[in-house]
Amino acid sequence: MKDEILDVSLTSVAQALATDYFCIYYVNTDNNKFIEYSASPEYKAFGLPTTGDDIIGFSRNQFEEIIFPEDREMFLESFTKEKVLSALDAHNHFTLTFRMMFRDVPTYVHLKVTRMIEKDGRHAVIGISSVDDQMRAREAFEKAHNASVTYSRIAHALAGDYFSIHVVDPVTDRFIAYNSLDEYGKPGAEKAGEDYFGTVRRTMERAIYSGDKDRFMEIFTKEKVLAITERDGHFTTKYRLRLAGAPVYVSMKATLLEDKDGSHLIVGTNNIDAQIKREEEYRRRMADARTSARNDFLANMSHDIRTPMNAIVGYTNIARRCQDDPAAVSDALDKIGSSSHFLLSLINDVLDISKIESGKMQLAVGPCDLAAVLRRIEDITSLQATSKSLNISYSKEKVRHFRVLGDELRIEQVLINIVSNAVKYTPAGKDVTLIAEEESLPEGGKSRYRFVVRDTGVGISEEYLPHIFDSFTREQDTRTNRIQGTGLGLAITAKVVELMEGTITVKSKLGEGSEFTVELDLAPLPDEGTEAAEDSGAEGAGALAGKRILLVEDNDINAEIAEMVLEQYGVATERAENGKIGLDMVSGSEDGYYDAVLMDIQMPEMNGYEATRAIRALDRAYARRLPIIAMSANAYDEDVRDCLEAGMNAHVAKPFQPDELAAVLRSHISGEERQDSQEV
Ligand code: ADP
Repeated sequence: MKDEILDVSLTSVAQALATDYFCIYYVNTDNNKFIEYSASPEYKAFGLPTTGDDIIGFSRNQFEEIIFPEDREMFLESFTKEKVLSALDAHNHFTLTFRMMFRDVPTYVHLKVTRMIEKDGRHAVIGISSVDDQMRAREAFEKAHNASVTYSRIAHALAGDYFSIHVVDPVTDRFIAYNSLDEYGKPGAEKAGEDYFGTVRRTMERAIYSGDKDRFMEIFTKEKVLAITERDGHFTTKYRLRLAGAPVYVSMKATLLEDKDGSHLIVGTNNIDAQIKREEEYRRRMADARTSARNDFLANMSHDIRTPMNAIVGYTNIARRCQDDPAAVSDALDKIGSSSHFLLSLINDVLDISKIESGKMQLAVGPCDLAAVLRRIEDITSLQATSKSLNISYSKEKVRHFRVLGDELRIEQVLINIVSNAVKYTPAGKDVTLIAEEESLPEGGKSRYRFVVRDTGVGISEEYLPHIFDSFTREQDTRTNRIQGTGLGLAITAKVVELMEGTITVKSKLGEGSEFTVELDLAPLPDEGTEAAEDSGAEGAGALAGKRILLVEDNDINAEIAEMVLEQYGVATERAENGKIGLDMVSGSEDGYYDAVLMDIQMPEMNGYEATRAIRALDRAYARRLPIIAMSANAYDEDVRDCLEAGMNAHVAKPFQPDELAAVLRSHISGEERQDSQEV
């Protein structure tokens, strides 16, 4: 009876434990009588001992079959009757861990034999449980730890750069930390049982600067870090830690290292606070420098604008007061003219440079007549040179092809700038030369055009020479040096040359003179009637007299200037105050009534583009052929293009020179027939 009670209680104990054990035996070790209390079906499949079997002998035989081969020797050596009994005598229990093959998978099991003294003799409980999960985790941890011995060397090597290095096993999530904030240099504080990402996230809850927390928590998950590391080879992030209450910039970098122990994530964190602060300081200084360059520029500009404005205002007053002294009026008007001219070139330079700096300058490449360019340069600069009493000479003997493919306006701008500078910075009695040469290039059908501008003027100092092509720089500013200028001319020149894929170089010696060389590779075009074109311009000199022009202009002063200029050429003008009125006047006129239209662009009611489109859309050949010429202060290349696209024939920029306006009008009014034939 007693035995039965004992059996029942042992059964329930065994059942309670059964979930953790594959099998539990209760054995009388004196007679090897044993009761099997519980065995999992997997385990039963290997066969079970029967009463009278020697449990140790049976197990040795049975396990030999199902043990993982690598553990067999160890098992047979350890699991002997003598060793088990002596362990039981000494400690009341015997334990052994080894791997059994379950469904061909080596699985860690833990065998434990515990002695129990009963009235009928010595008994033992033998239990076998699976410890696979713990053992695998431990195995991985040991691997990581072994690896960490290797990594500790790496960690030491990196110690100067990183204040913390973590070696993480991405499978188990366990990690080893080397932390210089604690005691850096030890083999590493084992964080057994802690998962890396969870630990770091928990630490960051309090350690990270609040402004960076959300972003860090969003990105710092195991999945995201591993995905980024696998994709890019590494994962990096910057954030601020709160150290002693103050935010300190740190940078974390994780790299996946494959080695014989599997793959490990090496995560290093370093303090980049000083570096970030240096960068911030650098940015602040750069911003300050830009502000100060801008302030200097504004100071120069306001001086440079006020100087000619002062002359214009002053001489206008003088002219008004001296109306009965024609010589004084004429002198005042000359000065007003030259100051206005300077002001205009200043404005053009500022517009050009801002266009260049925003990357919006484009070349308008087309047939270009270098002979005409050189002639115009000669006209302008020989006047300047004569008025300064210096000797200027031009040589173009070595040019064989004057017609080339290029941007005529920009080539002229470059050369005018350099020759004018030479004249400007060369004192009376000295020399300036412009030499143009052509050299055929072996490939690409192009020629190299070299323009050398040499002067025996003031020269440029060695210190300033490297900055000569920088914007807004001058060797001496206008306030100390009486020569007018903005320091923009050469910056624009250099950029334009660069746009044309050419080169510009300078040699100079202070007090001796300077030599600027521009080289442009341009494709020559077959020579054809340049002179003839000139002739036709000359021929049509009187051709404007008696013509009738519609002037569409909202500004009264501008309208009056245009009317007076046109009157000098014998042209009759009618004025419309906006595009809408202009359109009505054209549509209400007979065929051929107007010879041309001068069209402002920005106007109330209807602008110049709309008015032109509407005129072109009228169902009359007269309205389609009528020359419409834009006369506008919107003078960028794209403004000109927009005008042509809207259906206009040409563009004259405001302020205009009377001759220039007359020439354009002449060519379009007399060229009407040519236009007709193109249209058909
Ligand atoms: P600026 O409007 O001042 O003439 P530039 O950009 O054309 O501006 O020239 C910049 C500076 O280069 C000038 O202020 C002058 O100091 C120097 N420079 C340019 N060309 C010459 C030259 N031929 N001889 C001496 N100095 C020159």
